[in-house]
Amino acid sequence: MPYSIWVQGEYITEPPIRPTDDLKRPIGHYIDTGGYLGANVYAIDVETLCEYIGISDHDKCMVCKNDILLCEMNQKISYFIIQDKEIIDIISDEILELEKLSTLDVKVIGNTIDFPDFEQGVRYFVDAKRKIPYLPTLDVLETPYPYFKLTCSKCGRAFLSCKYMARHKKCGGYLAMDFATRVHKKWE
Ligand SMILES: [Zn+2]
Repeated sequence: MPYSIWVQGEYITEPPIRPTDDLKRPIGHYIDTGGYLGANVYAIDVETLCEYIGISDHDKCMVCKNDILLCEMNQKISYFIIQDKEIIDIISDEILELEKLSTLDVKVIGNTIDFPDFEQGVRYFVDAKRKIPYLPTLDVLETPYPYFKLTCSKCGRAFLSCKYMARHKKCGGYLAMDFATRVHKKWE
């Protein structure tokens, strides 16, 4: 069974032949991650193509289209989503210039392809004037963070997860997110 992974490299549509067996690949959508010519070429789903926007985050990670960013400044958190031509602050609902973003201390925490309901999930807490979840990552598996503790705002059930979820599948209630062992913000 093929399974999906994220690859980072140059977007190409006419790939070079595969050096191991001289396979000629059809015209399509590919990412070449570099190295020996034609050896590291991956066919991609073009719907998931996320272009680098020319800015790196706090950890020198490249910021790309569809990324979700956390910004912690002046004892306040913000979440930004990189859209086609705009950067949206989903808590204040403001639009940010790319130049402004490059001056802020931001961290890529995930993207809207892996977490399509993140924006909706945060907006629930904004609209309901409840505490906005503090999320320095949306997937804890390859990080030192503890598991998430999710508490349903509708039925009150609590459970653990390694990935962000906006809603409780059983009842549709929005999930308040915290960590199973509390992770403190920089200023706490
Ligand atoms: Zn529930």
